[in-house]
Amino acid sequence: MRALPIRKFAPIMPLNVTGVLSDLDRVLLDAAAIQARVTAMAREVAQQFEGSKLLTVIAIMDGGLFFVADLLRGIDLPMRLVTMGASSYHGTTESSGEVKFTWPASLDLKDQHVLLLDDILDTGLTLAALQDRLRAEGVASIKTGVLLKKRREHAREVTVDFVGFEIEDEFVVGYGMDYQGRFRNLPCIGILKP
Ligand code: 5GP
Ligand code: MG
Repeated sequence: MRALPIRKFAPIMPLNVTGVLSDLDRVLLDAAAIQARVTAMAREVAQQFEGSKLLTVIAIMDGGLFFVADLLRGIDLPMRLVTMGASSYHGTTESSGEVKFTWPASLDLKDQHVLLLDDILDTGLTLAALQDRLRAEGVASIKTGVLLKKRREHAREVTVDFVGFEIEDEFVVGYGMDYQGRFRNLPCIGILKP
């Protein structure tokens, strides 16, 4: 059998993002800054869980998709990955903090060591509700990581163990985060034009 030629793959980046980028008012974090920080975070997480037999990662989709994909590939530990969707109902129900999860059927978290990952901590409702639910499921421990944390009053106190960047209280898009379903594919994180 003939060996296949070794190919050099281009980095996974869009060749031309001019169209999507042109909707940005400014770039907050460029791709290189995100990459460097996520790599450092992976080391922090790996150190924290050193010697762990099996880690259960719970990743909130879809916003966390790119962050989680990059972070986990930097962690050389046995783990399993669980993804779920979360939607919080702000406005009139904000005080009640109602958050709905697309909880996977037959997910057994009893006595598991859980790493909870989300794109951004805003009001804190989503992560607080999920932490409550995980405790009710009987997990052994919970550590929580977010790529971004907004500097603002948090509606609920929530413990976060790993934070990528603290940002001002502005609406951001890119690197997984959307506005009306768009802009997730931006390699950077930015603020949209008004
Ligand atoms: P929280 O429950 O902390 O208020 O909301 C967290 C969720 O709201 C995040 O997982 C994210 O989906 C969404 N979110 C909060 N702030 C932003 C933002 O600035 N940009 C985007 N695209 N989503 C946000
Ligand atoms: Mg989200």
